Amino acid sequence: MLEKCSYAKKCGGCRYQGIPYEKQLQEKERNIKKLLKSYGKVHTIAGMENPYHYRNKVHAVLKHMRNGDVISGIYEEGTHKVVPVECCQIEDQEADQVIQTIRKLAKSFKIKIYNEDSGYGTLRHVLVRTGRKTGEMLVVLVAASPVFPSKNNFVKALRKEHPSITTVVLNVNDRNTNMVLGDRNIVLYGKGYIEDELCGCRFRISPNSFYQVNPQQTEYLYGKAIELAGLSGKERVIDAYCGIGTIGLIAASGAKEVIGVELNKDAVRDAVVNSKINGIRNVKFYQKDAGDFLVEMAAQGEKADVVFMDPPRAGSSEAFMSSVIQMGPEKVVYISCNPQTLARDLEYFTKNGYQAKGIWPVDLFPFTSHCEAITLLEKKNRKQGRR
Ligand code: SAH
Repeated sequence: MLEKCSYAKKCGGCRYQGIPYEKQLQEKERNIKKLLKSYGKVHTIAGMENPYHYRNKVHAVLKHMRNGDVISGIYEEGTHKVVPVECCQIEDQEADQVIQTIRKLAKSFKIKIYNEDSGYGTLRHVLVRTGRKTGEMLVVLVAASPVFPSKNNFVKALRKEHPSITTVVLNVNDRNTNMVLGDRNIVLYGKGYIEDELCGCRFRISPNSFYQVNPQQTEYLYGKAIELAGLSGKERVIDAYCGIGTIGLIAASGAKEVIGVELNKDAVRDAVVNSKINGIRNVKFYQKDAGDFLVEMAAQGEKADVVFMDPPRAGSSEAFMSSVIQMGPEKVVYISCNPQTLARDLEYFTKNGYQAKGIWPVDLFPFTSHCEAITLLEKKNRKQGRR
């Protein structure tokens, strides 16, 4: 058992700091049961063997101190005060070291750190993403302007200390916003993205695309979700909120065809490339709001046999769910990262012709209070309907 993290109070990211891992799992399972057991059986939560340093995506905000030092860390919970952080129990350790190096180099290269109040300065945040299987590493320097002084030498010095960095991108974010990344990426070194492998498929991940932060548990999550779908090879499958296409592409070999829908342009571009990298031909991706897309499909009388849905924390929309119900798939596999919105959405599905066959919690985020869960929904009275 590691020491309790000294930043825990100010950071607020790990609500379960100081609680033994077994207890964390029990607590999460209990919470899920409380919220969801009225909909279906809640199975034992799937935890990690080693719950440390699982995060493949590390973010740090930078700040200049009066003496010229640069600190890096996180915003104190609920504020814009920067808490300096040297290392974190749940983040990739090499990524943490890269951030320390960037801090040091920013000082020696005299890079001006952005000041949120005055709007003066350049470098705002650093984002590091690693591919667990491939070992590739992407560093994103988020700056307020596309002009980054001595960028080539900066990147050279950074790579010298961390040869495992495979690509460096300058992301331009000149807006006064809570979003870390802006829309524009300028590749400073390497290919501008990383690749990683999950469940036997290879995936390109661009800086602005969503990718699960705990790849080890994600393999379990996807495996379980696809197992629950019980594909036979004949199905028409929808992968909604598909990101870079992970679930749909992994499921494709067991289905007749897969249709993926996702709002983020970069993610859809990655998904299309990912189908090519893996030689998968029975998949099509669409860049659209998932609700709008399904409303259109349902209006055209399209059908589907299985719907995977993996919405963001806000959950799904009534437009989306009512269209799913209209299209009448035998199975809906709902992957949720927020039990509260899952409960709301299960209420809707179970009042409108579907029944939850079980709920499988998966601990994707040890030490935090977040919990992932898969719910298998099946159409009620399947046989009666045909009598
Ligand atoms: N299934 C993917 C992504 C899940 S995260 C994976 O496992 O990696 C949720 C995704 O939903 C994100 O990629 C986000 O960009 C996308 N998203 C958010 N709102 C959306 C909407 N209204 N319509 C379609 N996709 C949306």
